[in-house]
Amino acid sequence: MSSMPESGNAGVMRLSGIVEESIVDGPGLRYVLFTQGCPHHCKGCHNPQTHDFKGGFPFTAEAALAQIGENPLLSGVTLSGGEPFEQAQALCAVAEGVQAMRKNVMTYTGYTFEALLARNDYWTNRLLELTDVLVDGPYVESLRDLELQFRGSSNQRLLDRASRERIAAALCSR
Ligand code: SF4
Repeated sequence: MSSMPESGNAGVMRLSGIVEESIVDGPGLRYVLFTQGCPHHCKGCHNPQTHDFKGGFPFTAEAALAQIGENPLLSGVTLSGGEPFEQAQALCAVAEGVQAMRKNVMTYTGYTFEALLARNDYWTNRLLELTDVLVDGPYVESLRDLELQFRGSSNQRLLDRASRERIAAALCSR
């Protein structure tokens, strides 16, 4: 059981960009937050400007939720990178508000789902709970596939809640 850390700068994210209406970052019309800061440095990454943890700009969860709430046509919100799980606490504040609006949350990560579970970290686990669909794994240039839905390389998985429960259960039974 992971312990809950102090709240700190709970609702302030560091972002590389915002797209208020996207049809390419998940199902339906989506509001997309691109986080700033990524430790993975995947070869062939299309967004190297998002790697520097000191780059980008600060933005509050409150401001994001205000923009999201103004658009009734949105199906959901996508948390992309950079690496969203490096600022899981602030993104939890966004995801909680999105779920309260009865919209869905899709989260991208360069970590595998198994690696996120192994962190045993409160905010990582909470963001996973608030995520309806997780797209996991690093971008692997040699596995690039333009036919894949919402993914760049074939090692990446689209994991809904049921798929994640199956993987977690299998890990526990080992
Ligand atoms: S995880 Fe995403 S943003 Fe980070 S290096 Fe890999 S492709 Fe780029």
